[in-house]
Amino acid sequence: MSGIYIHIPFCRQACHYCNFHFSVSQRNINPFLTALLKEVEMREHFFKEPSGSEKPVIESVYVGGGTPSVLTTKSLDAILNKVSRYFNITRDAEITVETNPDDLNLNMLKEYKAIGVNRVSIGTQSFHKSDLRYMNRIHSPEQALESIVNSKKAGFDNITIDLIYGTPRLSDLLWQKNLERVVEFDIPHVSSYALTVEPKTPLEYMIRKGKASPVDEEQSARQFELMLQVLQQHGYLHYEISNFARPGYFSRHNLLYWTGASYLGLGPSAHSHLPGKRSWNVSNTTAYIRSINDGILPQETELLSETQQFDEYVMTSLRTMWGCNLKYIKEKWGEHFDKKLEHQAEKHIRNGMLIKKEGHLILSDRGKLFADGIASDLFRTD
Ligand code: SF4
Repeated sequence: MSGIYIHIPFCRQACHYCNFHFSVSQRNINPFLTALLKEVEMREHFFKEPSGSEKPVIESVYVGGGTPSVLTTKSLDAILNKVSRYFNITRDAEITVETNPDDLNLNMLKEYKAIGVNRVSIGTQSFHKSDLRYMNRIHSPEQALESIVNSKKAGFDNITIDLIYGTPRLSDLLWQKNLERVVEFDIPHVSSYALTVEPKTPLEYMIRKGKASPVDEEQSARQFELMLQVLQQHGYLHYEISNFARPGYFSRHNLLYWTGASYLGLGPSAHSHLPGKRSWNVSNTTAYIRSINDGILPQETELLSETQQFDEYVMTSLRTMWGCNLKYIKEKWGEHFDKKLEHQAEKHIRNGMLIKKEGHLILSDRGKLFADGIASDLFRTD
């Protein structure tokens, strides 16, 4: 199982918290599209084993960004067609496109359906005006709701929305209302993140200058617990720290990331992974276009040591509801890695943060609040 991620580095407006690679100027869209299509050709052999064995099956294509919905459907179609021509995409592959509510209308969603998109991801973040304003989101609460309704009308049942909690404008009551919207609109998948203040973002600058209220970690923890309670109560599975889904709606693309599968990232700043190796494209659209036009992949590569691979497995698997598989660790890295991990895990099991069940180490609901700290405690690197 393998996947392809495509990064579209354009947005209509800069959200204050965002540190992804994007530009609000759209003057480079056409040269970018030309370069992207060329990169697809240059990457044709990415998944091939050195022995030249058969192309592996691609079961997910994810168009993210940035905001892919700033592209015309014709451009999106050209990208998907090109990828299908050069890679072995299964007939039932998951084809996801990230969108913003202000871009979506019924007609566009119907066009998405017609070109083979079968999963739509909507950057909702909140259904409350003051909250959206704090984040400098471009869309209104009404557009957020309308985009969900229209996605359903266009025939999408596989819909995911993003939500952010822990913003100073979001009381627990308003957060509860956001969660109730998820249930009310029967949205099958939700990705939800605590607002974090990243360096060099407008939000960090504004907080430093006293122009925006800072983020309260206790509020974030409380709202995380509220989310667990409300969504689990309504039949959502908390299958990864930041992801909830109704049965049958897990993101196949995200599962590739969390299971150490191979994936190819196309476009500026996109990351790729092959067993024991990761690489990433330059985070600069102009440099990306120039390099591709010169016939050079603008990428850096890092070979992963056994220890790095082990740490990565611990970090990603612990975040999922399936947890760390001790048998898999023993088989892949040997008895010694497994013994040390079990020894390190003991104190977290004793204080109720980790549960050992059927050969797996799984975070308890309380442990989920400290996932990163617990994972790094289990790492091999000191
Ligand atoms: S729309 Fe998404 S990628 Fe663009 S600025 Fe906002 S959060 Fe960042």
